[in-house]
Amino acid sequence: MNVELEMEEKKKRIILKLGTATLTKNSDFISRGKIEEIAREIQNLKNQYSFIIVSSGAIAVAKQFVNLAGKQSIHVKQALASIGQPHLMRIFMEVFGDVGLFCSQCLISYRDFEHEDSRENIKQTIDVLVENGYIPIINENDTVATEEIKFGDNDKLAGKTAALLQCDLLIVATNTNGIYSNFSDEANKETIAVINNIDDVKNFIGLEKSEQGSGGMLSKMEAAGIAQNAGIETWLVNGHEENFIIKSLNGTTSFSKILPIIQS
Ligand code: GLU
Repeated sequence: MNVELEMEEKKKRIILKLGTATLTKNSDFISRGKIEEIAREIQNLKNQYSFIIVSSGAIAVAKQFVNLAGKQSIHVKQALASIGQPHLMRIFMEVFGDVGLFCSQCLISYRDFEHEDSRENIKQTIDVLVENGYIPIINENDTVATEEIKFGDNDKLAGKTAALLQCDLLIVATNTNGIYSNFSDEANKETIAVINNIDDVKNFIGLEKSEQGSGGMLSKMEAAGIAQNAGIETWLVNGHEENFIIKSLNGTTSFSKILPIIQS
């Protein structure tokens, strides 16, 4: 076997979920600076890890260019996603390309996970991309599906993808340092570092959503539940923190780990 291919296969695979709030830094505009920072982190880590990104942000980019009537209607949001997705990919390709990384686009919907032939096609395509050093950038196919626009901002899509691909780790970027044991007490918030049973922390989850995303912590926990049942660990990491990927991997920031259920 070709040595480079063999090395790619040995790397740990991480699914990195980037929501609209992380990519816009909670603003109305996609932050190229944030994407540059993420690209530099991946570039630094690329000898140890392969990354598969699940990214939202298509609707947010479109809103920077166009103003369609009825922005709250689901079909208008689908149209905005269609307008924004090529721009989102252009930004990723330019920014990642500047640090020597190659990326590709994969559009997937929930329904695709229900059919064995689609599941196999997703796995095989992503395998070829990763083995050849490409970073797949996955988004929901918003023209045919609306699940993640309505609720989730791609969180569950990331969980399902991690499970299907049997990845080593799911990192979900959020706007907190994970789950706080006392989330309503701003001054004394403390991250719950390790979570075994998701039901035990449900009462600690704030139900508020960011202005930009449609998920909030609830859909992140659903994603973690899907990964957990598939034997995959999920990390809920603060995507607003600079270098959040490296800091979480080397343990210099606080975040919540949801441990997998090990099937006996
Ligand atoms: N697929 C959508 C996007 O990329 C998800 C956004 C959302 O749920 O707000 O914009």
